[in-house]
Amino acid sequence: MLGELLTVDEFYDAAAQGKLLGLKCGSGHVTVPPRRSCRICGSKALKKIKLSGRGSVLSFTGVFVKSREFPIEVPYTLALVQLEEGGNLMGIVEKPSERNIAYGSQVTAKFQRLADGEWPRIFFSLGAD
Ligand SMILES: [Zn+2]
Repeated sequence: MLGELLTVDEFYDAAAQGKLLGLKCGSGHVTVPPRRSCRICGSKALKKIKLSGRGSVLSFTGVFVKSREFPIEVPYTLALVQLEEGGNLMGIVEKPSERNIAYGSQVTAKFQRLADGEWPRIFFSLGAD
């Protein structure tokens, strides 16, 4: 059985409206950002789902070297977040400090367009708002 497709354009169009979409397979695994198959079991029978955007920090790191292609000033903190429904998402943590970010910190995904005509970027704010 073939499932629903979630295209990258659809994912970012929803993100621009503040909605986080993902895919769920029959075994309950969540895949986000979109792929053609489940990131865990490879199933292509996927169903589109809306995610809360809330999750907890699995890992984070500081970025100190500015990329020409990435229009954000350094330093910034990049985090890998385990979403509460399942699935992992990488994004930039807003206003972190060594005191308020740690393994397990609660965060909420939000989206921000940094330049006209580009896809919104994934950010995380600390706290579960
Ligand atoms: Zn699966």
